[in-house]
Amino acid sequence: SSTTPATTTWAWNRAGAAFTDMMTPTLRLGVTGLSRAGKTIFITALIRTLLSGGRMPFFLPEAEGRIERAYLEPQPDDQVPRFDYEGHLAALARDPADWPESTRRLSQLRVTIEFRSESSLRRAFGVSKLHVDIVDYPGEWLIDLPLLNMDYAAWCAEAVTQAVAPRRQAHSKAWREFLATVDPYAPHDEQLALRGAELFADYLKAARAEDHVLHTTGPGRFLMPGELAGSPLLTFCPLNLDPSIPYGRNTNAGMMARRFESYKNHAVKPFFRDHFSRLDRQIVLVDVLGPLNEGGDAVVDLEHALSSVLSVFKIGSGSWFSALFTRRIDKLLFAATKADHIHASSHDRLEAILRVIIDRAMGRAVDSGAEVGVQALASLRATREADAKVDGELLPCIVGVPMPGERIGNQVFNGRTEAAIFPGDLPANPRDALKPDAAPAGLHFVRFRPPRLLPPGADGESPPLPHIRLDRALDFLLSDWLA
Ligand code: GDP
Repeated sequence: SSTTPATTTWAWNRAGAAFTDMMTPTLRLGVTGLSRAGKTIFITALIRTLLSGGRMPFFLPEAEGRIERAYLEPQPDDQVPRFDYEGHLAALARDPADWPESTRRLSQLRVTIEFRSESSLRRAFGVSKLHVDIVDYPGEWLIDLPLLNMDYAAWCAEAVTQAVAPRRQAHSKAWREFLATVDPYAPHDEQLALRGAELFADYLKAARAEDHVLHTTGPGRFLMPGELAGSPLLTFCPLNLDPSIPYGRNTNAGMMARRFESYKNHAVKPFFRDHFSRLDRQIVLVDVLGPLNEGGDAVVDLEHALSSVLSVFKIGSGSWFSALFTRRIDKLLFAATKADHIHASSHDRLEAILRVIIDRAMGRAVDSGAEVGVQALASLRATREADAKVDGELLPCIVGVPMPGERIGNQVFNGRTEAAIFPGDLPANPRDALKPDAAPAGLHFVRFRPPRLLPPGADGESPPLPHIRLDRALDFLLSDWLA
């Protein structure tokens, strides 16, 4: 057989391409935050901005004109669902535009960026490439990490104590009443497990809805089940055990303990081992404005929640965690989302408040070893600013189209007309917002319609999506890999 020169070249080129691809570094960027913190919108806007070269004066590689192009590629992990970028864009392109569906499970997408290096040596080899694998997952899952270090009896003791804490006892009442009727040492009963799991999940969800609390003993999948919705892996709950009485295998306690271990082995460990521990960078999105508007108590809760998040990232060397999982996150960004709900004059204040919260939370969680950044942003800006006369006074307002049914006082919006709203001012001294007895910030928030994603113009280019400080977040998370 003979090889023609043409096929040789083809084979050589292909080998070359495969080699370049193998040599292309991959940055795995985790995006997390509690439900509705803004993960879906952040990722959609980030990808769209990269792909369409949106306005990003503070994203240095883009501002310097070194980014050649960015495009989506099939993600490398076949067993992981793909982040539904196109579906989310389609929601924004509807008329009227609508917010896409929020994150309910882990998903992933790969963006490849071609850029010209700053280094003349690397430039001599042509265009450089970087794969950015964006991993979206519910922040609720992070609370499960401590479970790995606990057995069933220890978990029960902690959960039962927590359930009678002042801010939780009302929510946990039905579950505690149920517990009082259960004999952990009686022969196991499946109906009882189903009922207990349901009541326990209801309690966790109710407590979370009120407190934004992450500092619970989980299980995180009870709050956000992901692909485990309805799975038998989730049919267990803590019981009121007497630590001095051992339980047999076929008792209620024995059955629950077995399921607790299965949950750890089949839900918690795979997530930390296969996904979390492979991240290089992480952004944690935080809805700070909601708790601020509820008052000092809610803000203090948020601080506790964030310190438990931070403790997950504090993967010190020599800890049992690092013995299990080796990779390590070197940059961690906390971002207060939805900054377009307040006037630009308050953006720095929002950032300052989150910074104080994080500083205090970090004081409690030991050194994470990672560089920690703090920022306020709006991934997708739904408002613009204007001074408007409100009750005869000229006030810095935001203007947007409130979603149908949103209300301020007795004014109900229809979802079609613009409104100018004075959202209120954030406190100038961030510490004022953090006093446990701080009054609610007196802010006016409504959900606005997202800006409509317009179809491409004559030049084939779609207009960029508006944002606030999204470029700074990208700069913190990506720039050094694009140098
Ligand atoms: P997820 O649960 O973390 O995926 O949250 P989403 O990204 O789905 O966001 C939840 C909701 O918050 C959205 O439906 C929007 O109403 C709102 N939201 C998120 N990001 C922004 C933003 O940048 N600006 C505004 N105005 N609203 C936002």
